[in-house]
Amino acid sequence: MVAPVIGITSYARDGQELPCFSLPVGYVDCIVAAGGDPVILPPAMAEPVRVLDSIDGLVLSGGGDVAPAAYGGDHHETIYAVSEERDQFEFQLLRAALQRKDLPILCICRGLQVLNVVLGGSLHEHLPDVLGEAVPHRIPPRQTCRHQVRLDPTSRLAEIFRSLELEVLSWHHQGVERLGEGLRAVGWAEDGLIEAVEYRSHFWCLGVQWHPEMEQQDQRQHRLFSALVKAAQGRAGRKNDR
Ligand code: MN
Repeated sequence: MVAPVIGITSYARDGQELPCFSLPVGYVDCIVAAGGDPVILPPAMAEPVRVLDSIDGLVLSGGGDVAPAAYGGDHHETIYAVSEERDQFEFQLLRAALQRKDLPILCICRGLQVLNVVLGGSLHEHLPDVLGEAVPHRIPPRQTCRHQVRLDPTSRLAEIFRSLELEVLSWHHQGVERLGEGLRAVGWAEDGLIEAVEYRSHFWCLGVQWHPEMEQQDQRQHRLFSALVKAAQGRAGRKNDR
């Protein structure tokens, strides 16, 4: 069996003395544990779309907020780490990836938000302003927390997790407001926030608002990465035949 190559978008350039493109190790370790070969995709490529020919699957990782201008949103004092470079790179990459019929796409946290914006949806700029604090999605100022997610029983995610109730690691302060065109909500927090989406116009495109990559010891969360790598096998195999 060929090991699929999984491209993972890196965080935006950051740092004063020595600017870096970084990525939390969990994304890489989870793809390796699932049998894939990870490659990190920095948002500085001249032609983002070209790299799609070299990968068999794509992960849009977490990170800073999408510029509110991209979805007709307003500035908010809590918006952080906005990068025009990363936004534009991921928008272009994702738009092209959605046209590739055999390239599975997993969108995590910010990635789900990017997916929603690319499909014309909008985001809540700061969740506590609209949903209150009954369900914590992030502990101030910027710490992780846990909450429950309920999955649609007919969703692909329910099939992957083999469960309709999950406890997830949550680390976000924004979320889906208006759903993008063609996106289907398939998971919700107890406050009603959309926590998972599927894009059925594509053969395998899933988004989760939580962080499976930060729970490498969790067998259930790991199934998401196994499912991605498995979905990338077909493309990897065909490439190998050439
Ligand atoms: Mn959450």
